[in-house]
Amino acid sequence: MPISIWWIRRDLRLSDNPALQAALQHDSQIVPLFILDPSILNSPFVGEKRKAFLFAGLAELNAALQARGSYLVVRAGEPAEVLSGLASEVGSRRIFAQEDYSPFARKRDQRVGRERSLELTPGVVVHPPGSVLKDDGDPYTVFTPYSRKWRSLELPSPVPAPPGQIPTPPGISGEALPDSSPPAGFPAGEAAAQERLDAFASGEGAPVFRYAEDRNRVDLQGTSGLSPYLRFGMLSARQAVSAARQAEQRASDKQAAKGAQVWLSELIWREFYTAILYHFPRVRGQSFRAEYGRIRWANDQADFEAWCAGRTGYPLVDAAMRQLAQTGWMHNRSRMVVASFLTKDLLIDWRWGEQWFMQHLVDGDPAANNGGWQWTAGTGTDAAPYFRIFNPVSQSMRHDPQGTYIRKYVPELGAVPDDYIHEPWKMPADVQAGANCILGQDYPEQIVDHRWARERTLAAYKQARE
Ligand code: FAD
Repeated sequence: MPISIWWIRRDLRLSDNPALQAALQHDSQIVPLFILDPSILNSPFVGEKRKAFLFAGLAELNAALQARGSYLVVRAGEPAEVLSGLASEVGSRRIFAQEDYSPFARKRDQRVGRERSLELTPGVVVHPPGSVLKDDGDPYTVFTPYSRKWRSLELPSPVPAPPGQIPTPPGISGEALPDSSPPAGFPAGEAAAQERLDAFASGEGAPVFRYAEDRNRVDLQGTSGLSPYLRFGMLSARQAVSAARQAEQRASDKQAAKGAQVWLSELIWREFYTAILYHFPRVRGQSFRAEYGRIRWANDQADFEAWCAGRTGYPLVDAAMRQLAQTGWMHNRSRMVVASFLTKDLLIDWRWGEQWFMQHLVDGDPAANNGGWQWTAGTGTDAAPYFRIFNPVSQSMRHDPQGTYIRKYVPELGAVPDDYIHEPWKMPADVQAGANCILGQDYPEQIVDHRWARERTLAAYKQARE
């Protein structure tokens, strides 16, 4: 009986899954396979929280497969070797997988494809990088025209639900999944992803309708929190886009419709950065704008450690870095503020921050993360101009007006009065004593003066351009 292998990578779901559907269409039996690839698991760009989320997601997928009479086979090793071994063992000629666009994934798939028939389906994004091009066939490097073209393309139809029984040959050996407990707040799996999508985008008073106003407030839950699920395909990109479009149609007024439109635009940014990394793989190690490859970074190790530990003396930066360490996630506004602080206040190479994020984010994604860092550093494609340097105090006042977020993640500032919560260094000694927050003892003094740092950075960028 013909058997195909469904090689699962970033599509940990049964619904709306083109790779699974293609495998089921071609052969009467399938083997769902996940490969624990040591070159990924031991990479310096991978961290414990994301691995834990992945393993918990695989356990959920296995349970869903078992409910359909199938099961997940987990094997460890170099993918081409594992696939060869399994294919000979079960007598399979075909492998189906969802195409992944990172330079690492492309090389891996080329290696596998040289030895076996590897059939790749779309799915990581709604519109694959090669399908959103300028009329002359060149890739876009600016978001707005990319997004216009993206929007002009038809949304693919959903893939039919898989059958109630997924036929899989019994008794194929595999490894046990490593034990894991994903970060609280991110229960793994397809069911959790769907629940979160519904909570965000379904129903009349859904948060998506307030997204345009709330998305920058770090003290509110104004965004979907779906990034880890999209990262591992526990939710398909198409499902998210379709929810955004439906919300826009259901919106009761202009402002609500705008919320859904802006949310869709963020989903398109995700596809834009996937395309940038696909067309310009060099961005993984280099500035997209060559001139900024010449910036003379200060790269002070002690400053970097203070940033990592959330001990810079700037409350919003510290709250954000501690949110990342505690939860494995960080609000988008906070990501921009801490990335700007690292690159432009501390003049530390964006690649240091990029790697730290990859080590700690549950949603760490090579394309979105690189895009976000290069955008903030001003070195990227459609990036913030080099002279846009976030002021960590005014950002804090605007996006965490009562200091709720700061107090949540920086408990030593808990009793600091509102007047000083964004600038604790202005507290007189008696106020410090009253708030149990002596500067330099309970909470650090600022490690750098923002005004001075701004001038230093402008000079460094100017020098690089000249
Ligand atoms: P929502 O606001 O609900 O947006 C919906 C989805 O759109 C997100 O889940 C995400 O998949 C996508 N999205 C939103 N904003 C962006 C964006 N600017 N770029 C690309 N995709 C976006 N996102 C990641 O998924 N992984 C990363 O490793 C990552 N690193 C970042 C690093 C920096 C320095 C910056 C500035 C941004 C980074 N982002 C990254 C983008 C963004 O911060 C997160 O996607 C977002 O905060 C996730 O929260 P959410 O799911 O509630 O987003």
